[in-house]
Amino acid sequence: MALHGHHRFIESATEAVQDAKQLALPLLMRDHPEHPWSSVALRELIAQRTHLDPVIGHALALIEDFELPFVEEEERLADAGVTLADDLLGFEEAMLEFERAFWLRTYEVYRADPGRWNLPEPVVRDLCEKHGLSSAAVRTALSGQDFADYAEAAPYVGADPNCPDCKLGVTKLLTAEVRRRKDAQPA
Ligand SMILES: [Zn+2]
Repeated sequence: MALHGHHRFIESATEAVQDAKQLALPLLMRDHPEHPWSSVALRELIAQRTHLDPVIGHALALIEDFELPFVEEEERLADAGVTLADDLLGFEEAMLEFERAFWLRTYEVYRADPGRWNLPEPVVRDLCEKHGLSSAAVRTALSGQDFADYAEAAPYVGADPNCPDCKLGVTKLLTAEVRRRKDAQPA
């Protein structure tokens, strides 16, 4: 199984948790209309996980591991008088510190067990990491098209016209596509 880098892991998990929160929110609103996003409400719903629809169950597993710790930390800080409203800087500093340590810790767990949270497989950006170009996507985009050169193809496949990595990778695939089309033509 391909492994996300630390940064992409955070992105991928954050995205998955956003979806999970949308699924869980109506249930939390139903049971705890006053404080739907409190640790009490979350814990109560998480405890019912095995009796709920599997999609909700998976969403709650993500929320338990990636959202509940933040909610609990915010509540702990609020009990100590550190809130967004009363102590903006103190709150932000504490949460940043917490967040940094949290993502280091969870990334280690993920590396040891990449399938644990069922996060989407990382996209391979083999042509250009910076501009997010993958051979597979560019090959598909070029297929059946009739570009004269790199400058013409670049905007179409999402490449940067001035990036040497993009240019090298896309030109190689463009040449292969032209050759393929020639070979396909009847002699
Ligand atoms: Zn590039």
